Amino acid sequence: MIIRRRSKSIKVGTATIGGDAPIVVQSMTKTDTRDIRATINQIKEIADCGCEIVRVAVPDSEAARAITTIKENTSIPIIADIHFDYRLALEALKSGADGLRLNPGNINDPEQIAKVVLAARERQAPIRIGINAGSLPPPSKPCASISEHMVNAALEQIELLESLDFDLIKVSLKAFDVPTTIEAYRVIVSKTSYPLHLGITEAGLFRTGAVRSAVGIGILLYEGIGDTIRVSLSAHPREEVTTAYEILKSLDLRQHGPILISCPSCGRAEVDIISLAESVDANLKEISKPIKVAVMGCIVNGPGEAKDADVGIACGKGKGAIFRKGKVVRTVAKKDFLDALMAEVKNFLT
Ligand code: SF4
Repeated sequence: MIIRRRSKSIKVGTATIGGDAPIVVQSMTKTDTRDIRATINQIKEIADCGCEIVRVAVPDSEAARAITTIKENTSIPIIADIHFDYRLALEALKSGADGLRLNPGNINDPEQIAKVVLAARERQAPIRIGINAGSLPPPSKPCASISEHMVNAALEQIELLESLDFDLIKVSLKAFDVPTTIEAYRVIVSKTSYPLHLGITEAGLFRTGAVRSAVGIGILLYEGIGDTIRVSLSAHPREEVTTAYEILKSLDLRQHGPILISCPSCGRAEVDIISLAESVDANLKEISKPIKVAVMGCIVNGPGEAKDADVGIACGKGKGAIFRKGKVVRTVAKKDFLDALMAEVKNFLT
């Protein structure tokens, strides 16, 4: 059983992070924020997939100002991602951003940070201290490893923000290297109670990035670490959101739509299990309620092997057994496999 670390609870717009709140799924738009229509459309699309907080890049004043209209037309909290120029943070807050992500590696003038903190405090907008292994501030003391450098940079920034009477803080310690990321988070949990945002940065294309993220984020989540997650992929952000939920569902940390259990197929299978599983998966995308559905290649072993499933099919030669909670409820002909299984799914959910 996973025992989650108890972190301080903060609000980012309407979303609660930390404390007893469920782990929040985040993503980031890949549109030019200045293209307001495209950004709104992308946010709506990923919100429909379950994205709960979205970050937008703020490279200039026009992007910062665009946040006003983007917020008026979307429903999930918006975080402004700021690099180098603290004035963009001020402008983004003025435009209604629900929170900021600052990188101490590229905004580190205490006076500039103090101005941002003052404005964030007035609006009760949290700041994520977003440490990135690739853009760390110079070390203030000798560090034995990158992870130690990352942790020290975060702690120094926490100290600075607290000295300015600000505690709406969230921290992330992202690296491409999975062991470095894990090490950094494991160390910081004993040094702060602020909520932690997890991610593996620049994780790569869809398949490799999803695996890398699942390993890094998954290990930390299993250890009870993490309050929000983002899967960073060189892919459409909807893939980030669906992958994030798959990670959370695989650890029973969130329920979000159906789970497909499918056997890998082997020489015993009498039907093309892979294409049947793909068709079932496509049909399940229409369903938002949690349900476990199994597609198995053996009529004898299938129901037993997929005993975790709510509903399933075990396929034999020319016919298949539809089962519910491990018990066969009817037998159907091969041509009806998909329709019969989906009918049983609907039946189970009503
Ligand atoms: Fe092979 Fe049957 Fe197992 Fe599928 S369920 S992998 S067909 S033995």
